Amino acid sequence: MDWHYIQPVDIHFGNGMLSCLSEQIAKLGGKRGILVTSSSFIENGLVKRLTEENPTTIATVYSGVSPNTDIKECDECSALIRKDKNDFVIALGGGSVIDCAKASAAFCLDNIPTSVYFEGKAQLPVRKLPLIAIPTTAGTGSEVTRVTVLTDHAHGVKTPLKAPVFYPTIAIVDPELTYTLPKYITACTGMDALCHAIEAYWNTSHHPISDAFAFHAANLAVRYLEQACFEPKSAIAREKMAEASLTAGMAFTLTGTTSVHACSYPLGAMLDMPHGEACGLTIDRFLRINAQSDKDGRLKRLARAMGYSDVEAVADAITELKFRIGLKNDLTHLNLTDGQIEQLVKNTQHPSMKNNPVPITEDILRNVYRSMVL
Ligand SMILES: [Zn+2]
Repeated sequence: MDWHYIQPVDIHFGNGMLSCLSEQIAKLGGKRGILVTSSSFIENGLVKRLTEENPTTIATVYSGVSPNTDIKECDECSALIRKDKNDFVIALGGGSVIDCAKASAAFCLDNIPTSVYFEGKAQLPVRKLPLIAIPTTAGTGSEVTRVTVLTDHAHGVKTPLKAPVFYPTIAIVDPELTYTLPKYITACTGMDALCHAIEAYWNTSHHPISDAFAFHAANLAVRYLEQACFEPKSAIAREKMAEASLTAGMAFTLTGTTSVHACSYPLGAMLDMPHGEACGLTIDRFLRINAQSDKDGRLKRLARAMGYSDVEAVADAITELKFRIGLKNDLTHLNLTDGQIEQLVKNTQHPSMKNNPVPITEDILRNVYRSMVL
């Protein structure tokens, strides 16, 4: 088996690690940075704290990022970076914020609208401004991946862009930043991490390093997600979910994702569902589908390593976990029409699908979506 391993992000992990931000800015030689964030961190005072601690080096704040980052927000952020002549970027927030910062840190140097890259009409850049990613959720792993997931709401399209330029330069992972996350966000983001781990593991391009990270992350996520939801200040649960998110990110950035994420993009773009909840809708369903042709027993080994007798038991446990932590297991509340289901099937033809260990036909997809509306 031939494989390649790279992890270029300088990672700093631990409770209270946010306090090393000034030191990391100095390490980059940053003089006039932009802090990319969402409005909630202005409201809770964290932006004020960071700008007071770094009065000269954080020169600009962009807080216009929404959940499911729109390509227009990347344009706004890039324009601001050019206007203020920022020389580095800090991302403080969940996956959407980090993804907006990743895209803007690269696209700002070329002055080409994000839509051009999003539609594949220009080669992705190779240069970017240095980027410090500080996740405030535990799930996307975006702080260590070469992926930025963007949405064109005007056309109902959500898609990941992948290139080495999107690796952050530095990641500061401070589990204490997740203590105030509401239960629902903890549940959605944690489910995303669990899906990243399982999809990296069963991925057709898995290799020994991605397997090691995926095993570790799947175990942690299944063990600590519920506790993180119900005991938000549990130091152990929050730390272990941050670790799960990070290691799942390190796994899937090597392999890509598969069927579960391919379905999550139309679910997110057409129904505006949170990414992790959209992934959670299909992970147990695809576990059952992929288990049917687990010829080499890899999935069974994962199930045993996660503490279950077989893959069906893992799927059952995830279905039950969704109910307990308040994530949807179907779409019955939306009264989807047959036409909308066909649209979901059509929009699921994402390249990630080819990484799935079982070829997924339109009929299988149709059945998966139909099972959510019965
Ligand atoms: Zn994801």
